Amino acid sequence: MEFTEIYCNNCKKTLGRYNIRYFSDAKIAELIKSEYAEHHREGHEISISRVVKRP
Ligand SMILES: [Zn+2]
Repeated sequence: MEFTEIYCNNCKKTLGRYNIRYFSDAKIAELIKSEYAEHHREGHEISISRVVKRP
């Protein structure tokens, strides 16, 4: 399974992992603005990466 991982470089933690099957890039961008607005507001550097998990 492939996931999009949202990571905050300032907090040094993973904010969330989302299955790419259900979350498009546009949806991820929306999530960052809504769910993770506080990081965004404080000017934190958020990086998005693709991770592959094998069962
Ligand atoms: Zn942060």
